[in-house]
Order: sequence, then C-alpha cells, then structure tokens
Amino acid sequence: MHVLVAGGGGFIGSHLVDVLLARGDSVVVVDNFLTGRRSNIAHLDGHSGFALIEHDITTPLPATITDGTTFDAVLDLASPASPRDFANLPLEILAVGSTGTRALLELCRVHGARFFLASTSEVYGDPLVHPQPETYWGNVSCIGPRSCYDEAKRFSEALTMAYHRTHGVDVRIVRIFNTYGERMPPDDGRVANSFVLQALQGEPITLHGDGRQTRSFCHVADEVAGLVSVLDGPHLGPFNVGNPDELTMAELAALVVELTGSASPIVTVELPPEREGDPAQRRPDITLVRDAYGWAPSITLRDGLARMVAWFRDVEGIG
Ligand code: NAD
Repeated sequence: MHVLVAGGGGFIGSHLVDVLLARGDSVVVVDNFLTGRRSNIAHLDGHSGFALIEHDITTPLPATITDGTTFDAVLDLASPASPRDFANLPLEILAVGSTGTRALLELCRVHGARFFLASTSEVYGDPLVHPQPETYWGNVSCIGPRSCYDEAKRFSEALTMAYHRTHGVDVRIVRIFNTYGERMPPDDGRVANSFVLQALQGEPITLHGDGRQTRSFCHVADEVAGLVSVLDGPHLGPFNVGNPDELTMAELAALVVELTGSASPIVTVELPPEREGDPAQRRPDITLVRDAYGWAPSITLRDGLARMVAWFRDVEGIG
C-alpha cells in the first residue's frame, strides 16, 4: 500500500510508520513538528519506502501530495494531544481537527483512498458510564479547558462520517485510550512520562488530588497493532483501542518508584488549572475490537514501563 501518515513524526505516528514500512508499505509522512520530534523518524532517513513532507495540514496541501502517486490510505494522527497542549495550543488543535482533517478527507475523496482517523477516548469526556463502550455518547463540556481537544475530535468523527455518507469515502475510526512508551516526550505533562521523569531526576512524584483517580495505559506497541488491525479490517468503527487494566495514580506512582529504584518521595498536590475537568475514571470496553479482530493488549504495565524507563535513561539521557 502507498500510505500518507499525517502526524507521523509524533509519538504514536512514528511507531505506526515503523510497522507499515516493516510490512512493505511505502509511507509519506506529513508533519509540521508542532508537537512531534524529528528524532522520532530520524532512523528512517534514506529508507527507500519513506518520504517526509514538512507541512501544516491546516494550510492547502502541496502538489507533491495532491498530484503525486495516488494514496491507498490516508491516516490522520495529526493533533497535539497532551493536557499541556490543551492550554497552550487550543486554536491549533481546533484547526487541525477541522480544517486539517477535512483536507485529508478531501484527498481521500479524490484519490479513492481509505481514510483512518485517530480519535480519542476524550470524546467520552468525563464519562458517566464505566467502562466506556463505543455506544456511549459521552459527557463533554463544550466550553471547558479540554473542550478544544474533545470537541475537535468529536467534530473530526462527524466530518469523517459525513464524507462517508455524502461522498462514499471508505473510512475507519479508532478511539485511542491513554498510550505510553518509547518516544513519548518526557516533559509534555502526561502522567506516566511525568512520573518516570520525576523519578529519574530524583524529584518528588506529584500526585494530583488524592491519587485515587484511575487510568488504564496501553503500551505503544500494543496500541499500534490494534490500529493496524482496524486499518486493514472491513469495519468502519468507531473502535476503542486501549488497555482495560485499570489502576489508581497512587499505584502507578508506587510502580514507577519500584521500577526506577528512585528515592523520590510521592507527594500530593492540588489539581493544576489546566487539569480541570480531568475525568476521574477512564477505561475502555474493548469487546468490539477483540471480537472483530482478536486484538487485545499483551504487554503488562510493568514490562512496558520498564521499556520506557530504559528509553528515557539510554536515549533521552535522563537520570
Ligand atoms: P504527538 O503530539 O506526538 O503527535 C501528533 C503529531 O501531529 C505531531 O508530530 C505533530 O507535530 C503533528 N501535527 C500537529 N498539528 C499538525 C498540523 N497542523 N499539520 C501537520 N502535523 C501536525 O501525539 P500522539 O500522542 O502521538 O498522538 C497521535 C494521535 O493520537 C493524535 O491524533 C492524538 O489525538 C491521538 N491520541 C493519542 C493518545 C495518547 O495517549 N498518546 C490518546 C488518544 C488519542
């Protein structure tokens, strides 16, 4: 397949690109490196199946993309995704989830390509149903600090379905739940990487509130395998793709201390303003994707975190 990956210079996108190249696809990454890092794809320089086009997809796509070889699939992973980005890049997030996604859908219409949207568990907002199945419509504030991201992704999903219904574009939608692992930026404020960074630097590990809020974390290798099964499969979705194993943030902090051998104390702090509206619980119901494709995560949090700790130490040079 000839594949365009928007956001392929990012954390999840770069792992996905590796998997697609490894199976013989040719891949064009389009990324403006707003939140991604060149180092994520530096190892692909000179790969015969790989090309990088540095471009902001909220501005008209260059002729190298629109008039080049027809794409079989276009994957939309281009969006800032961390709570820190919600505070610093709200307009960029809204633009990429609307104008950017539309540009990629339009490309699919013209090329007859399959469109793949990386949506998010955030479409469920602060969920009143637990765990969240795809049939749950969510509990989302349209004006809160997270609204730029939640509503942009909900709009992207709506736009995707409108292109499907109006123009017959072949589409796939996945809702990604918290993903962690190698190449995650250490300092973007997400919880797993923040704890590892604090532990490796010997800083206090800061639990927000009482630390009893829960999350479930999927290692990026598992996550990408799930994304590829949805990309290749016959069903539109949306599919939840994430790890249903849930733990409290206090348990996560303790596990990070154990794995790093850190002397960092675990302290509790007030919820910072940008975390207002943080869901208290988040856990995917993955029945649909498991039944359709036999996908389920296989990497334990202990093993996955150990890989991330090693990456932060050996590649990022932390601690
Ligand atoms: P990331 O920030 O590492 O990757 C996003 C990439 O998109 C970056 O390389 C960034 O530079 C690029 N980008 C942003 N705006 C762009 C624009 N206008 N034009 C071109 N490129 C642009 O984030 P990630 O964690 O890898 O997330 C990838 C996708 O998965 C996002 O769509 C995100 O919403 C979704 N997602 C991620 C998680 C998670 O836990 N990491 C959870 C749910 C959903």
